[in-house]
Amino acid sequence: MIAIKDITKSFGELEVLKGIDLEITKGEVVVVIGPSGSGKTTLLRCLNILEVPTSGSITLDGHTADFSKRLAKKEIDYFRSETGMVFQGYNLFPHKTALENVMEGPVIVKKESKVSARNKAEKLLTKVGLGDKLDFYPFQLSGGQQQRVGIARALALEPKVMLFDEPTSALDPELIGEVLQVMKDLADEGMTMVVVTHEMRFAQDAADEVVFIDKGKIIERNKPSELFTNPKEERTRQFLNLIS
Ligand code: ADP
Repeated sequence: MIAIKDITKSFGELEVLKGIDLEITKGEVVVVIGPSGSGKTTLLRCLNILEVPTSGSITLDGHTADFSKRLAKKEIDYFRSETGMVFQGYNLFPHKTALENVMEGPVIVKKESKVSARNKAEKLLTKVGLGDKLDFYPFQLSGGQQQRVGIARALALEPKVMLFDEPTSALDPELIGEVLQVMKDLADEGMTMVVVTHEMRFAQDAADEVVFIDKGKIIERNKPSELFTNPKEERTRQFLNLIS
């Protein structure tokens, strides 16, 4: 589904990603962990070309973006529309209801009719447990509920892969579980997902593979059962000790 080949990304003098190679198969859930500032968010943003990598290439379902060449807008649009991004903050439109927030993408980006977008939005909000909150505005929803609207909104574009950037880190502790459960359900349904998170329980329960990144490089990747109990690299061990 996704092949990342030797991606680098620099901001001015600062090389944040130093040659990342990663393959993700359809239906796989990859959790990315690592210290603050190691490049996790940048990697995720490169995957949907919110950040343009400095070099390397990314192939998504047979479409390759080669960053040694100038990208056509069409290629960037492909990556944006086929990846659903869920951010740390919810970024919902404050003056739109939950339903309208979820309808927005299909109507504006995919030019779907309002009737079909509304039907789909209702189904998706029901799926994330908000079938009774369709007409609520973001300020009337808890952080966990807003984040679930954010997930429904990303799903509305029917992406090939969902990218989650610390989706629970702005939430009060008691609201984290409900968001992780929605993500777990998605994973169980076979959605391809790349998740940056500090929630090691989620990584243990839902990840097919955990990737440990430090200073812009993949240090180690493995099944969660292996990586958490038997890390091969000293740096992974140190990081896991710090957060446990
Ligand atoms: P992580 O998600 O692992 O905490 P990030 O990918 O957010 O790490 O950031 C990695 C490094 O890149 C940090 O040093 C950060 O300051 C820097 N960085 C991220 N985005 C930008 C940007 N737009 N401009 C300049 N530096 C950036």
